[in-house]
Amino acid sequence: MNNSLQKIDLKNLSPSELGDSIRSFGKERYRSLQILRWLYQKGAHAIDGMTNLSKIFRQDLSEISFISTLHPLHVEEAKDGTKKFLFQLEDGNRIESVLIPDKKRLTLCLSTQVGCALGCRFCLTGKMGWKRDLMTSEILNQILAVRETLTDNTSITNIVLMGMGEPLANYKNTLKAIELMTNPDAFKFSSRRITLSTVGLLPELEQLAQEKISFRLAISLNASDEEVRSYLMPINRRYPLKKILEACRNFPLRPRTRITFEYVLVEGVNDSPQDAKRLLKILTGIPSKVNLIPLNEAPGILFKRSSEEKVIRFQEILMEGGLTSIVRASKGAEISAACGQLQGKSLKLGVRS
Ligand code: SAH
Ligand code: SF4
Repeated sequence: MNNSLQKIDLKNLSPSELGDSIRSFGKERYRSLQILRWLYQKGAHAIDGMTNLSKIFRQDLSEISFISTLHPLHVEEAKDGTKKFLFQLEDGNRIESVLIPDKKRLTLCLSTQVGCALGCRFCLTGKMGWKRDLMTSEILNQILAVRETLTDNTSITNIVLMGMGEPLANYKNTLKAIELMTNPDAFKFSSRRITLSTVGLLPELEQLAQEKISFRLAISLNASDEEVRSYLMPINRRYPLKKILEACRNFPLRPRTRITFEYVLVEGVNDSPQDAKRLLKILTGIPSKVNLIPLNEAPGILFKRSSEEKVIRFQEILMEGGLTSIVRASKGAEISAACGQLQGKSLKLGVRS
């Protein structure tokens, strides 16, 4: 085994943790900012390559720390340009990230856990169960590894935490990763370009309301009443819709921002005009917009996607009621890269693109 196991992975440190450990070497604070730039702007793979630090300091730093990296095991591309990256972690577990080009945007969808414990009935990641949480470095390395595959004139414009896992169930590591995504010396993403999608774990949602960190919040609603939501998403028994909506109503949103509510449309389960009307009603008073996602079907999933007419009718009712709603095209479905289709598996393993 390599001895890096006892060493600190620099990418697991928040900017202030990194600052503290650099100070323990008797070095100035700006040295830690230089290191942040090496790690996240230049994508350094080795401490020794950080040439604006003295040779001795680099040696000392290498004694106690290292830089982890991630390399795609396999990349698959769909006809619409969506790419799915499969990564193998140090312990052999596998995760996926999805890169989605759309007009001027290039959105990267990140995983935050290996699997997911919440077992929503329509989601393949949920079927896998939960294996473990990702470390901050593993969340960030997905961005770095995908960025390395891009050609010079393209860059990732948006990050969505909507891949494998429930980000708020891995609260600490996910928030630290977002802090580094927005830090001006690290990735420098605008907080408006980062979206975290959650089922709405109440204690974490309430804790989030107290944090200084900012990003866009998306809540996976998927139903307009308790009964249907509990059927589709068992977590609703513990954290019911009513309480989640209350937490959303009290959430300290920045001016002119809204909460996105995601609503997977499942044939005959949650897609009737009555459901749409009820959805309008329960979202009253919350600055919101709705993303309608026709279900991505998959083997092992009981449900069918709603017909196009039903999707259109559902959207019309929301729009007539004054609620902004878009139908999210399912990108990358033929390579199982669409929402809810990530399982950390790939058919043709071992092919590097
Ligand atoms: N665990 C988080 C984030 C990952 S899931 C969450 O649930 O929000 C990201 C989105 O994919 C969620 O809105 C979820 O409802 C949606 N999703 C899951 N399975 C799906 C499927 N089979 N078809 C379409 N969307 C799906
Ligand atoms: Fe987990 Fe989200 Fe899938 Fe539900 S939809 S099982 S919370 S990943």
